[in-house]
Amino acid sequence: MYGTGSRVFRAPGRVNLIGEHTDYNDGFVMPAAIGFYTWVAAARRTDNILEIYSDHLDEKVTLCLDDLAGPPRSHWSDYIRGAAASLQDAGHKLSGANLAIHGEVPLGAGLSSSASLEVATALALASVSEVELPRLELVKLCQAAEHEYVGTRCGIMDQFVACFGVSGHALMLDCRSLDYELLAMSVDHSLVVCNSLVRHELASGEYNQRRADCEKGVKLLQAHLPGVGALRDVGIEELEGYRHLLPEQVYRRCRHVITENRRVQEAAKCLRSGDPVGFGQLMYQSHNSLRDDFEVSCKELDLLVEIASTSDGVYGARMTGGGFGGCTVNLVHASCIADFSSHIAKSYQQKTGIVLDVYVCEPAQGAGPWPPDGSQ
Ligand code: ADP
Ligand code: MG
Repeated sequence: MYGTGSRVFRAPGRVNLIGEHTDYNDGFVMPAAIGFYTWVAAARRTDNILEIYSDHLDEKVTLCLDDLAGPPRSHWSDYIRGAAASLQDAGHKLSGANLAIHGEVPLGAGLSSSASLEVATALALASVSEVELPRLELVKLCQAAEHEYVGTRCGIMDQFVACFGVSGHALMLDCRSLDYELLAMSVDHSLVVCNSLVRHELASGEYNQRRADCEKGVKLLQAHLPGVGALRDVGIEELEGYRHLLPEQVYRRCRHVITENRRVQEAAKCLRSGDPVGFGQLMYQSHNSLRDDFEVSCKELDLLVEIASTSDGVYGARMTGGGFGGCTVNLVHASCIADFSSHIAKSYQQKTGIVLDVYVCEPAQGAGPWPPDGSQ
C-alpha cells in the first residue's frame, strides 16, 4: 500500500472469565487473551506525519505528531491518536510513520478490540521510533490513551492482558497491586464466546451509576471500618454486620463486588487443581450475582446462560464485560463444542430472531512483533 517494507505487530482481544465490575473496586479479574488479533504494519517516515489505514473501515486518516492534543473526536483514529499522544506525553520522541491496520477482533462486542488496537499501535510506533518501553509502562500509557483521547474511563485489565497474556493460560490480576498469576487451562475444554448482538443504550449511564453506588458503599462503611480504601478491603461478614447502614440497593451492589472477588480467588484454586466443574459453578454464581445484585444483565444474556446451562458438555456460563448486551463466555468440554455451538445458535434464533455469533477461543499469546523472533 505504501510501497515500502514494514515491521508487523499484533495484540490480542480478550475475554474475562470471571471477576466482573471488580476492577474499579481494586479487586481481582481473570481474563484470557484470545486468538483474535489486531495487526499493525508500520514503516518509519522522515516527516512528523502519521498516515493510517484501517481495512475494517477502508478509511485512511492523516495525523500530525505536533497536533495530537485535544478532546475525543468520536472517530476510530482517536485510539491511534491517543496511543501516539500518550507516548509523547510521557516524553518519548516519536517519528512519523505509515500504518496499515487489520483487525480480527469483533468491534464493540466486549472482546476489547479497542485495547488490542491501542497496544499494537503503541508497540509499532515505539519500534519505528527506536523507543524502548517496559511492558507495564506500555499498558499504562494505552489505558491513559483511552481515558484521555477516547473518553472511556476503562480499568487496566484489557491493556494488561493484551500485553501479558500467555497462550494456554488465564491471567488472574490484582487490580490494586498489578500482581498477576498465570493459570494453565486444560486443553480438554475450550472457551466459547456467544455474541448476543444486542447493546442496550443505557450501558454507559448505568456503568457510572454502578461505580457511584460502590463508592457510596465504601464511604458509608468507612465510618465504622476506617481501614477500608475500596470494596476490596471489605469481607462479606463485615458487610452483613453493617448492612443496616446501607440503602438496600447499595448493599446489593457491594454484595456483588465482595462475593465476586471471592469467586475469582476460588476460580483460581479450581484451575490450579484441575476442577472445571467447580470453575463452572462459580461462573453461574457470578452470572446470577450480576443479574440479581448488580443488575447489569439483560434478557438476551440471561437467555444465553439458560440455554447453556441445559446443554451437554457445558461446565459453566456467564455474561462477560460491562453488561446490558455483548457476550457470554462458556466453558465447554472439547468434545461438545460443535454440538453446543449449533444448539445455542438455533435456540437463540428461535427465541429472539437474532442470528448469534459464536467464537471458539483458545487462551492466546499477548502482544508482540510478528514473527515473534523479530526476523522480518
Ligand atoms: P470493544 O473494545 O469491546 O471492541 P469499544 O467500543 O471499546 O469496544 O472499541 C471499539 C472501537 O475501537 C471501534 O468502534 C473502533 O473505533 C475502534 N477499533 C477497534 N478495532 C479497529 C480497527 N481494526 N480499525 C479501526 N478502528 C478500530
Ligand atoms: Mg473497549
